[in-house]
Amino acid sequence: MREETNVLHHILADPLTGAISTPIYQTSTFVQEAPGVNQGYDYARTNNPTRKVLEETITSLEEGAAGFAFASGLAAVDAVAKLLQAGDEVIAVDDIYGGSFRLFQHIYQKFGITIKYVDTTDPENVAREISSRTRLVWLETPTNPTLKVSDIQTIADIAHGAGAWLVVDNTFASPALQKPLRHGADIVVHSATKYLAGHSDVLAGLVVVDSEELAEKIKFIQNATGGVLGPWDCWLTLRGIQTLHLRLEKQCRNAAAIAQYLTTLPSIDKVYYPGLENHKNHDVASSQQTLFGAVVSFSFKHDTVETANRFVTSTHLFKLAESLGGVKSLLCHPATMTHGSTPTDVRRAAGIQDSLVRLSCGIEHADDLIADLGQAFSLTRLSFAQKAII
Ligand SMILES: *Cc1c(COP(=O)(O)O)cnc(C)c1O
Repeated sequence: MREETNVLHHILADPLTGAISTPIYQTSTFVQEAPGVNQGYDYARTNNPTRKVLEETITSLEEGAAGFAFASGLAAVDAVAKLLQAGDEVIAVDDIYGGSFRLFQHIYQKFGITIKYVDTTDPENVAREISSRTRLVWLETPTNPTLKVSDIQTIADIAHGAGAWLVVDNTFASPALQKPLRHGADIVVHSATKYLAGHSDVLAGLVVVDSEELAEKIKFIQNATGGVLGPWDCWLTLRGIQTLHLRLEKQCRNAAAIAQYLTTLPSIDKVYYPGLENHKNHDVASSQQTLFGAVVSFSFKHDTVETANRFVTSTHLFKLAESLGGVKSLLCHPATMTHGSTPTDVRRAAGIQDSLVRLSCGIEHADDLIADLGQAFSLTRLSFAQKAII
């Protein structure tokens, strides 16, 4: 059975009532027949029937051994980080999600964990830094906001050679496009807030592991630390997942059309999209992803914060907001928004130009999205016309 079919029918009708939509079990506890004699549930932090369906669904989508739902993407990242102990080292992708960077630097570093950031687009950089103290290698591919692509299988082999686990934050691709466990990763994490839930209406995080050993550890951490996803939010995430493939296909088609359009504009400096043949590691993306994703970034030749600011306040359909992955298109200006707290020199060194704009393409018609960008480019050009620079 193909995946789009399987994901829908994997979610069974409620065994008790036949309800085709998974019921929201809004309960904190479960009545027991005798102490310890129950129907598989005793307390909702440990297990909840609505959460169980979501956890089984993401396990199936990522082809793992077990899945776990958390209150946000960062709570999921945090649960995985709790596998570490003092003295351990982490090697992480250098343009890791800002919230994960903050968590590692400001929470875990003070507990005696060292994090090294390397450019993972070249696996040699991982091989050079890895040691017997490395417990986790932490990848995102593609990354935010310049869509850097790293080779999961090659880096998994390097990690395993040193006795480390490979974690892939698969938020940007989603399991509809990329299955890191197939390429040797041990753990996948998601901000389900983005593509999996898909409607910009819920915060959620998911972890999927590929072994019983890791399943036991994460289950223990989930129950011991308690950052679980509530039943309503499990239900919203489950509802979103049922249209994941449908949405992503359209969103990726829109993104590809927009990336192509951007390459034709004289005022644009760089276009970042893994589907473009000149994108670094385009061939790696082609081999580990089925489509190239729905985020496109670009920078202006007139590389100033003001240029980007004029542009991001001139679109109508693309709404100016943090986050991505929803059905409505969004755009943001990383230099002042998502990376606003990153020191300017560090940000520029990471390749995030002052005028970089990130687009999260939704499910609108591509013609309307391109027309919206077109009129915003005209307004931006007009406002800088006297300077004849754009
Ligand atoms: C948004 C995001 C997160 C954090 O997820 P929240 O649901 O916002 O806590 C983690 N990783 C990536 C790549 C993200 O885009």
